[in-house]
Amino acid sequence: MIDLTNITQEYKQGSVSSKVLDNLSFNIESGEKIGIVGPSGSGKTTILNIIALLEQPTYGDINIYGQNCKLLNSEEKVIFRRKKIGFVFQNSQLLEDFTVEENIALPLILDGQSYKKSLSYANEMLRELDLLKRRRFKPGLLSGGEQQRVAIARALIKNPKILLADEPTGSLDEQNSGNVVEFITNLSNRNKTTTILATHNLNLIRQLDKSYEIRGGKLVQFKL
Ligand code: ADP
Ligand code: MG
Repeated sequence: MIDLTNITQEYKQGSVSSKVLDNLSFNIESGEKIGIVGPSGSGKTTILNIIALLEQPTYGDINIYGQNCKLLNSEEKVIFRRKKIGFVFQNSQLLEDFTVEENIALPLILDGQSYKKSLSYANEMLRELDLLKRRRFKPGLLSGGEQQRVAIARALIKNPKILLADEPTGSLDEQNSGNVVEFITNLSNRNKTTTILATHNLNLIRQLDKSYEIRGGKLVQFKL
């Protein structure tokens, strides 16, 4: 369902070029939950960005749900991403000018749904997160774990086919990591969301179907 074929990503800095991904191929079945591990700088974010069509690889093909993504122009990529993909960034990237409930509702509002209806969906998610009492707060007033749960709710509010999350528990303590892990796995199990997570969190990895490690620009099976 997600097929990466012979993906190479090279970054040039002046005359020096470095190959972060080297002729990497892999595929993910619909509904699978996959982990990507690897030390800092090994290319985890790069892979997620390529799948999210936020970054164009130097070489190689990406096919998502039958769509050859090379054939999309930049506008079509934005539409494709909005329809199919929820993305949780490494730092939650919530918008400080908006309340928690507005942050979660934003993808629906951008889709043209009414403000009222969008907020009511957002509040359903907040109830499930046990964060309803924080709905009118600005994100900066929440703890790191709460912010990350809000970011995940925002990524999932449109029930995307694909969830990409970049070290979603990276900055959290154990307790908060546990909540975030539970929330992601509950929602993606329930909705059969194809889920790809970059993470170092072994508790999170245990809940996934498969994990891979980036080594020398390629993905190899990671065993616990
Ligand atoms: P990870 O997420 O595993 O920490 P990244 O995918 O962010 O790793 O980065 C992999 C490597 O690619 C790093 O060495 C990083 O410096 C480099 N890199 C990432 N993006 C760029 C860019 N836009 N330009 C140049 N180098 C980059
Ligand atoms: Mg990264």
